[in-house]
Amino acid sequence: MPYKAGKSLPGERASKLGHLEVLDSELINELLDEFNTEIDVTEVDEIDWTEISSEATPLSYIFSVDGSYQEIKLQRYSPEKIITYVKTAILKFDQKAIEKINKKYPHPMELRNVLKGSSSFHATVFPLKNVSKSDQNVYNTNREIIFRSLQDPLLENLPFETFKWLAYEKWSNEQKSLPLFDCPHCREKVATLAYDQNIGQCSGCGNDIYVTDMLGFHLDMNDNWAPTQIASTYMLLHETFLLFSGIKYFWENNKEILTECLFLKDGPLYIRAQYSKLVAPIRRFLAHARNEGYEIHIAGQEKSGRFFDYLEIIAKDLNTPSFFIPDNRYILEDIQHRPITSMPYGKDTNYGAKVFVIVDKNHKFVLTIPTGEFNETPTHTSIIGFDRILATLPKILSYKFEGALLPIELANKIASLSTYPSAQILKLFTESKGL
Ligand SMILES: [Zn+2]
Repeated sequence: MPYKAGKSLPGERASKLGHLEVLDSELINELLDEFNTEIDVTEVDEIDWTEISSEATPLSYIFSVDGSYQEIKLQRYSPEKIITYVKTAILKFDQKAIEKINKKYPHPMELRNVLKGSSSFHATVFPLKNVSKSDQNVYNTNREIIFRSLQDPLLENLPFETFKWLAYEKWSNEQKSLPLFDCPHCREKVATLAYDQNIGQCSGCGNDIYVTDMLGFHLDMNDNWAPTQIASTYMLLHETFLLFSGIKYFWENNKEILTECLFLKDGPLYIRAQYSKLVAPIRRFLAHARNEGYEIHIAGQEKSGRFFDYLEIIAKDLNTPSFFIPDNRYILEDIQHRPITSMPYGKDTNYGAKVFVIVDKNHKFVLTIPTGEFNETPTHTSIIGFDRILATLPKILSYKFEGALLPIELANKIASLSTYPSAQILKLFTESKGL
């Protein structure tokens, strides 16, 4: 059916969907006209970019984390079975070693030398559908896998200890018990564990609960099915625990070195929905460390999404090293087009403020950098370690891709399941296990 004349759809969308009969519908045309999904360039106000001063000292050690997951459908079975592999990795770099690498055409040997003995990875697998341990359903199998996977011997239990360190706020010396959470058995919000416990009993129903149940994975599953989100959320949390394993280690062993480290994460510093109960303890720790005189440098890099699209527009013609920190009002009104009376952006789910940074023509970043306690109007002085993080960026750029940071690019390589080992190999392996 021909596309109705007189209705103004963007060219690309019209050409892609023009042949669809649905576009003949007057209702659909009206609705499409009303949708406001694009960022309207004419509405973007003049932005007050601040030039980056080059006085701060770059950080000496860089840690980066990334992860990936791969869903495998075993279609030769009826009903089909689905499992998901998850891999995460952490890399450590010495800034001086990075400096020596050719950023445009890095030699594989150079990279190998830098990475030698400096990376660690973790892998696990979750059954999502029609697979489980023989004596358990999908729900309880996954609860157990989460508990056991965090204690991966390959990583010497560090992510598990770090998770407990955050959840029980062990750094505070207050011996806190866990805040009440939904029991995975009776579903009442009466479950808790006393300080430092790994396993305990629900006060309501008496059944065993794992410390990892406080994260709330069970709220996303039913008895015999789990969504892919279980894997993607586990990945995100594991990346966070890997990063904080480094922070915890130096906090307990050498605080001076800790302040010389930059911890980089692929993606925003964001934990969604029920899992976000770790956000408040993380914020409290970072604020506490700063009060004690130790700034901990963390940054998450966003490579897609609304903030990324927004940066592409506002920084299109800019090449001067500069930054812009949108406050809550700006984010709600100008970036998200939500009423200013909305819940403050990221209040419960983010442990950092958004920062737009221009380093040069090809390197423009959306970063999240912690502020400690939530701050509606963050500034370069309230954001933790802001100047030193910005001073480090030019030292760790990659010129292979636009907007790339070498430590994140390499963590991505190590953590990638889609290329190494390939999804096909994972499938063969899974099948050879008789699944
Ligand atoms: Zn219970």
